[in-house]
Amino acid sequence: MAVAVFGASIYKLPTQKIGVNLIFLALATIFFSTFSQIQLPRTKIHITVSDILIFVSLLTYGGEISVILAMTENLITSISFRRKGINIKVRTMFLNSSIAGIATFITAILGGYIFGPITQVAKSGEIADLAGLLLFMAVSQFLVNTLFITIISTAKSDKSVWRVWYEYCLNGLVIFVACAIIAGIIVNGLYKIDPILILVSVAGAITVYFTYRRYTDDVKITAAKAEQSERERAEEAEKHIEQLQLHIAQQEITEKALRESREKFKHAAYHDALTDLPNRSLLTKHLQFLMERAKETGGYNFAVLFLDLNRFKMINDSLGHFTGDSIILGVAMRLASLTRKEDMVARLNGDEFAIILNGVMSIDDIIHFAELVKRKLSLPFTLDERQIFTSVSIGIVIGDESYEGAEDLLRDADIAMYKAKKSDKHYSIFDKNMQTRAVTLLEVETDLRYAIQGNELVAYYQPIVDLQSMKLIGFEALMRWNHPKRGLVSPVDFIPVSESTGLIVPMTLWILRDSCEKLAKWNKQFPDKKPLMMSVNLSGKHFAQDNLVAQIKQILKDTKVHPNCLKLEITESAVMENAEAAISILNQLRRIGIQLSIDDFGTGYSSLSYLHRFPIETLKIDRSFVSAMDQGSENGEIVRTVIALAKALKLNIIAEGIETIHQLHQLRILGCQYGQGFLFSKPVPMQEAEALLEDSERWKNIMPQENVHVLQNNEPEKIIHLNSL
Ligand code: C2E
Ligand code: CA
Ligand code: CA
Repeated sequence: MAVAVFGASIYKLPTQKIGVNLIFLALATIFFSTFSQIQLPRTKIHITVSDILIFVSLLTYGGEISVILAMTENLITSISFRRKGINIKVRTMFLNSSIAGIATFITAILGGYIFGPITQVAKSGEIADLAGLLLFMAVSQFLVNTLFITIISTAKSDKSVWRVWYEYCLNGLVIFVACAIIAGIIVNGLYKIDPILILVSVAGAITVYFTYRRYTDDVKITAAKAEQSERERAEEAEKHIEQLQLHIAQQEITEKALRESREKFKHAAYHDALTDLPNRSLLTKHLQFLMERAKETGGYNFAVLFLDLNRFKMINDSLGHFTGDSIILGVAMRLASLTRKEDMVARLNGDEFAIILNGVMSIDDIIHFAELVKRKLSLPFTLDERQIFTSVSIGIVIGDESYEGAEDLLRDADIAMYKAKKSDKHYSIFDKNMQTRAVTLLEVETDLRYAIQGNELVAYYQPIVDLQSMKLIGFEALMRWNHPKRGLVSPVDFIPVSESTGLIVPMTLWILRDSCEKLAKWNKQFPDKKPLMMSVNLSGKHFAQDNLVAQIKQILKDTKVHPNCLKLEITESAVMENAEAAISILNQLRRIGIQLSIDDFGTGYSSLSYLHRFPIETLKIDRSFVSAMDQGSENGEIVRTVIALAKALKLNIIAEGIETIHQLHQLRILGCQYGQGFLFSKPVPMQEAEALLEDSERWKNIMPQENVHVLQNNEPEKIIHLNSL
């Protein structure tokens, strides 16, 4: 269509009209088309000042020239758009140009048809006609232009033709009308050559143009602003959401960490750090739970095994804590492997473990399990290619309704374990008799601590007699406990407790100092006599003390006692338990000049092969052999052998527990040098010992007065045995 319109316009071009004015108009049109485009807001219509000039051209030069001008102008507008970087396809450029040409063509044809030759209407000066024509031209241009635009736009969208036209094009009508009116004024002014009118209309046109431009710019700016703030709001919202999500994520992390640390703390509170086994708290808690459940259901079917490793302290001390820890870990693993899911293995402390056996059927089952544990733990642990052996003592307690709390059960299992330590089987099942004994021991321990501070300990002295001259040569200091409620307590009842608690160390130091003071006093008091000897018993526990030698030295120095006058009695078993350390300490003591004696000889290891390694002077034959001498020659043989051995080793011999003249007689015949026993005197307090010193030769005539002496001295000591309480 556009080609036809263009062709027709060229063909019928009124060449006579071409002149300076037309060229000027054409140039102005092209000029304005490139510089003054306005995109109508919310429309698809571009309008330029040159559109006014198209109207001017229509009114003054008619359709043909105007069609060419409009098409050219439109093409140039599109080109200038492209130059500005706006993407307009070539097809669109020609389309726009075509629409402009067709619209102008139709407007000119219809205008001429309705109003007569349109160039005449403007020339005639009839304002009413001109106004009608202008209105018509505006509407016609508008309709034809928008019709095409609408058709094309609708094809690309899903809206109706009417809707598109209404939304995007209707606004443009006013512009077309305005342009037409301005064009009318210009043309009218041109014809009347009224310069003022022309000026007014040009000013009007410029005002309209700039006002409109301002308006469109404003609209654009507001729209842009709105869009910008909308975008910012969206960004803000997005940022906010992001922050929120971040916050939530952080909160979750913190919560998780908190939960984890809470669990960790909880775990640590109920587990042992080294083995990760449940600790005493968790064990007690679980036991309490089992007891409560059993109380409800009446079914007591659990047992507690209390385990203590034997000789663990020795492993720890001699091989180091690292090895000790490795052994503990190994034990923990073995125990865990022996138990089922429903059981519990716990580490109580140090080398103590406990096992709760749940759902046990019979005592046989428990014993079977205990033996299994015993066997498994007696297998060696291999550490750094070295094999380490340990063994275990197991105390067993079976849950029943008599137990109030978990601690009671554990206490009894502990008591049974102590019993087990002394048993060959290495395990022991708790019975009520054990408890009474244990409670007494516990009381003894508590009281004994006060005893040391409260001067309740006393030393008794038993004389030692030279069996040849029958003269008193010294004393053995023996400890007594003057208990405020129980009276005089026998050392048999408190020495073992003091050894297991370590109290024996300060107690020994006390009796050493006390008896050295007495010795110094007596030696001063009876200067004419040969210096007295004082024997003091030394517990095996001292061999673990490295400052023992220094402490004894200090006591000797303080009391001014000559070391030769002090004799320490050590039992064989005490030496053998810790032979190397003992020998080293004994050597040190010997070097100072202190005398050493093996006590209770014959009852312990009697490893004669060791005897020569001990730096001792004296053997003290145990009471049991002496008392057995009465019963026949076979028992007498032992004493004879011991005395012979002592002589061969150049050792002195003391016989202890001499009660009868017969024993004394025998011993003298066998060549035993020294003796001690009730026949001479029971252990006595200090004042009585002094009385014996005053009369130190009282035993000279013991033989003829045999009966009298035996009767007098065989009266039992008034010592209460705790066992019999
Ligand atoms: P022990 O060292 O063998 O002491 C000799 C024990 O035999 C004393 O008992 C003494 O009273 C008793 N005895 C002495 N002669 C006769 C006798 O003719 N017949 C009878 N039946 N017994 C006699 P005691 O004083 O009851 O001491 C018992 C044990 O307690 C001691 O045996 C010793 O192992 C320990 N002990 C006593 N005092 C101390 C001490 O200060 N330190 C240490 N570590 N142990 C002590
Ligand atoms: Ca002794
Ligand atoms: Ca003894």
